[in-house]
Amino acid sequence: MTIKEFHEALKNRKISAREVVISYLDEIKKKNSELNAYLEIFENDALGRAKEIDERIASGETPGELWGVPLAIKDNILIRGKIASAASKILENYVASYDAFVIEKLKKAGAIFLGRTNMDEFAMGSSTENSAYGPVKNPRDMSRVPGGSSGGSAAAVAGGLAMAALGSDTGGSIRQPAAFCGVVGLKPTYGAVSRSGLIAMASSLDQIGPIAQTVEDAEVLFNAIRGRDEMDATSVTWTPDVQVDIRRPLVKTIGVPEEYFGEGLAPGIKKNIDEAVKKLSQKYEIREITLPHTEYALSCYYIIMPAEVSSNMARFDGMRYGKRTDGDNLIETYKKSRGEGLGLEVRRRVLLGTYVLSAGYYDAYYSRAQRARALVAEDFKKAFEEVDAILAPTAPTLPFKIGEKSRDPLAMYLSDIYTIPANLAGVPALTLSSGAQLIAPHFEEKRLFELGKFLEQ
Ligand code: GLN
Repeated sequence: MTIKEFHEALKNRKISAREVVISYLDEIKKKNSELNAYLEIFENDALGRAKEIDERIASGETPGELWGVPLAIKDNILIRGKIASAASKILENYVASYDAFVIEKLKKAGAIFLGRTNMDEFAMGSSTENSAYGPVKNPRDMSRVPGGSSGGSAAAVAGGLAMAALGSDTGGSIRQPAAFCGVVGLKPTYGAVSRSGLIAMASSLDQIGPIAQTVEDAEVLFNAIRGRDEMDATSVTWTPDVQVDIRRPLVKTIGVPEEYFGEGLAPGIKKNIDEAVKKLSQKYEIREITLPHTEYALSCYYIIMPAEVSSNMARFDGMRYGKRTDGDNLIETYKKSRGEGLGLEVRRRVLLGTYVLSAGYYDAYYSRAQRARALVAEDFKKAFEEVDAILAPTAPTLPFKIGEKSRDPLAMYLSDIYTIPANLAGVPALTLSSGAQLIAPHFEEKRLFELGKFLEQ
């Protein structure tokens, strides 16, 4: 059932929140030991919340859109009183002392949390193989990866283990797993959703967003979590719109960037995008556009992201959070705690980041990457003077086999070639189950929902 369908059924008293929660818990019990999508299930809390919801409905209250909706939450989003490990050993026993802003909002909206989902450690990866708790399998083909880093959330939705989910996206971590698992994922505009209570990876790129079965469901969740929060100075005020009605189009022209269709794009994916173009051309004008600095995006990201990672990871020193292994002196204790607590990919990025920020290399790497970032953002700005939205692929390849790329970081980094530019520019992007990615100007998520709904029809 989608969120919309469930809401209708709940309103008309055709179903109870309890029934739905129980059916998801059963499904999780059957499938999760194999899929490894959830790290922990909140069975008692979920049942307790469902009971409350049912009682409120029985006493005559009209249910809101998210009442009783069973969600899966990525393990880097804090839920008060629950472990938030970011799939790392170093936070194995870390219990969140407050709710993330998005969690607070969802609690107030009546949603239910089924559990916390597996991910690449600290959201660094594209396959969920970097989890300290074992890889997640793709429910559509168990020999393949679900994508990453929000692989657990995408697998939970695709496998019927949650009605919808939250993920986070720094360079593609919502969209690439959505494409790999055949579900819908939205990376909101930078600043649309508060990052308070999200375990930071690269703060100038991170956004929380929904993973759902349909565009309509992603829209409902996005509207529930967005908005200004005092705890995140980059978040902005938002006045709610009514939901997008595709009979009143906001979009006239759609751009297709030539740079996204070069060498390396798998033919099957190209075919899906061609079909989307064909369908869109029934209603919209399609125009070829160019985003000329796209070729710098990946290398620019792999300088800026590790620079921010290295500074965000400094707090995991064995003193303030999580696991500590004592050494003979303070430095030894730092080294041991971090060496034992952090995985290979995380350490690689801390090293890279420290290097590009070091006195002798700062100008050569970090400053130049910042300038390249501005050019990538400028590309989008110019393109949006000509077109209202952009259509592109999400990932260059189909889901790969578990183990196929795990020893080749560069091959893995290339999975993000089409998703990273939107993070660098801060613009919103929506991935559909076909693997098509729609991109819009800042704070124009509405356009994405309109086009997404049209393509889903
Ligand atoms: N896969 C990308 C990376 O490894 C993006 C991660 C993310 O968006 N959190 O950095």
